[in-house]
Amino acid sequence: EASEPEALDESELAVEGALRPGSLDEFVGQHKVRGQLQLLLQAARIQQRPSDHILLSGPPGLGKTTLAMIVAHESERPLRLSSGPAIQHAGDLAALLSSLTPGEVLFIDEVHRMARSAEEMLYLAMEDFRIDIMVGKGAGATSIPLDLAPFTLVGATTRAGLLPNPLRDRFGFTAHLEYYEVAELEQVVERSAAMLGIRLPAAGRAEIARRSRGTPRIANRLLRRVRDYSVVHGGDLDVATVSAALDLYDVDEIGLDRLDRAVLEALVRRFRGGPVGLNTLAVTAGEEPETIESVVEPYLVRIGFMGRTPRGRIAMPEAYAHLGVPHPDGALR
Ligand code: ATP
Repeated sequence: EASEPEALDESELAVEGALRPGSLDEFVGQHKVRGQLQLLLQAARIQQRPSDHILLSGPPGLGKTTLAMIVAHESERPLRLSSGPAIQHAGDLAALLSSLTPGEVLFIDEVHRMARSAEEMLYLAMEDFRIDIMVGKGAGATSIPLDLAPFTLVGATTRAGLLPNPLRDRFGFTAHLEYYEVAELEQVVERSAAMLGIRLPAAGRAEIARRSRGTPRIANRLLRRVRDYSVVHGGDLDVATVSAALDLYDVDEIGLDRLDRAVLEALVRRFRGGPVGLNTLAVTAGEEPETIESVVEPYLVRIGFMGRTPRGRIAMPEAYAHLGVPHPDGALR
């Protein structure tokens, strides 16, 4: 299959943006986090002050960016978007922070990937809305204090454990986003299908939800691929059509993608069920260790296919069953 042209990618992004829920009420699932955020924002509104800093952690595509946008929207404040990799020097952060308007919401995606020097500047900024700017070099260097407008930082990270403690401690509210239930993903797909004008029977909807890896972004993406399939091949979006489309895109019957399966295959076949270290596993599957650890592993652990032990990753019996490999029961492990 030919790869998609650039222009199409952009419109895909635009579609993804259009499907974002705009308020906490429209945000599906994550009931606990939603309730906690609601209270946090309401208190700030009553006291007419910016809300405490918020840290959102969890695998990609579960709604961290969406929640940051909702925080800004619900507190009727402007939103500034940035990301850790874009902040490579303390100066980058100083420029960003000093340009914020009072009460602005600053979203920093992948906040664990900021430069160390910027991280230290951020501690003071979060706590006292103040930074020290270093001017000059060597013996003549001085620091000039600069007051900032109060702001709300919303930080996102795939794993809160990646953040240094002093940074993590400065967030007044920390939420971990969990993978979504199939019923919740059905709601996401239903809402998106309605917005995109796609007629999708309940059974087709359920099939997409079941194969979305617990992730709304994937649910929306699969919905669009299924729609493409029906545009070309015609017919109702029943279970058979949905399955045929998803098979074509290498999404297996329980929603695992090619990388998930590469990791499982390596673990079960190559390393006979482990334990095997993360780096070895990553090299064998041909992917970065960080991607394995924050994208692949959390889901395989969550569905009970993989276990983490102090000596490394191990395959669970369910993983053998899924790959159709006999489990070495009774063998010495
Ligand atoms: P990343 O960290 O990779 O940016 P993310 O966790 O920030 O991922 P989002 O970009 O917020 O994920 O969400 C991806 C898409 O999934 C959005 O376009 C949105 O349409 C949809 N989505 C996410 N969460 C929900 C939800 N709770 N209800 C409905 N749709 C959602």
